[in-house]
Amino acid sequence: MELRSARLEELELPLVEPFETSFGVERRRRFLLLELESADGEVGYGECAAATEPLYSGETVGSAWEMLTRFLLPPLLARADADVLRFRRDAERYRGHRMARATVETALIDLAARRQGRSVGRWLGGRRTRVEVGVSVGIQPTVPALVRRVGRYLDDGYRRVKLKVKPGWDVRPLAAVRSEFPDLELWVDANQAYPVAAADHVRAFARRFQVAQVEQPFAERAVRAHADLALHAGFRVCLDESIVDRASLDDAIAARALTSLNLKTARVGGLLSARELARAAVRRGIPAWVGGMLETGVGRAHNVHLASLAPFRLPGDLSASDRYYSQELVDPPFRLGPGSTLEVPRGTGIGVEVVESVRARARRRSRRLTRSDGRRR
Ligand SMILES: [Mg+2]
Repeated sequence: MELRSARLEELELPLVEPFETSFGVERRRRFLLLELESADGEVGYGECAAATEPLYSGETVGSAWEMLTRFLLPPLLARADADVLRFRRDAERYRGHRMARATVETALIDLAARRQGRSVGRWLGGRRTRVEVGVSVGIQPTVPALVRRVGRYLDDGYRRVKLKVKPGWDVRPLAAVRSEFPDLELWVDANQAYPVAAADHVRAFARRFQVAQVEQPFAERAVRAHADLALHAGFRVCLDESIVDRASLDDAIAARALTSLNLKTARVGGLLSARELARAAVRRGIPAWVGGMLETGVGRAHNVHLASLAPFRLPGDLSASDRYYSQELVDPPFRLGPGSTLEVPRGTGIGVEVVESVRARARRRSRRLTRSDGRRR
């Protein structure tokens, strides 16, 4: 397949409410949207999940812009035979920048699937028509506000709730939520906020409040601390930031550091890596699930298609569009359906359309690269 052009845009959309984790607060979501156009006039979209600041990962909107416009897109445009596998091989020579790579990879898969008249999910081998989802609840100003917030999500129809926790925001909020909702399936995610020395504290609150899953309590390189916590835990220990590629997953599995795997398309460099890691984990008896990065509808669509694959066995952080955005970038927006599920879009490619009016209002900068930009290098 030959590409005619790549349009990279920086967009900004307001979040419905600020999203606070142990890293900090986000009020507006700034992100990159990539539109690839093939020589035969088909288009494919990818969204870059990197945030404005390097908090969750070392990548930022700015670093991804540089990586994409300087290193990833020009050689891809220069190729007469651009395809997903070739792009992955070419990009392997670069260190890191997995979110930037995933942006191109997902756009190429959308494009390839559309040209074959299939959905991204089917292209990947997914069979589910609906995927089970939960909701991730950020740190709230007060404990009563958290309890009200959780109650509203349960009223909306979400069945499992993941609370963001950090030192000083764990026992009180968990006690309040557990006493109000005794049967709720409750997960927690610390985004690495606890020192290894706090392992007994983490174990104690997880057991006391019947937390089903504790996600990434310790630093991303603290494999042994996660393994110690997972031993006879009585709850699942899930890794997120620690797992970025096959080697980090194999090492963590060998160390018995995880009993659940959060896979984010962005963190592992794309949908094909996420599929490979999910299959590898499930073969070792570790369930995988799809995590979220506050994506708008383009990234969300890719994630929902990914979750339609068999190895993703736990409900993902793939809430409906209105959980994060009042103006969704795509149409139709994702709506929560029966049994805490989202429907996997049935159209070709990602199966949803980019709304041009929303895109235009959200645009902060835009750059179009063509085949000649690739040849000039
Ligand atoms: Mg996480």
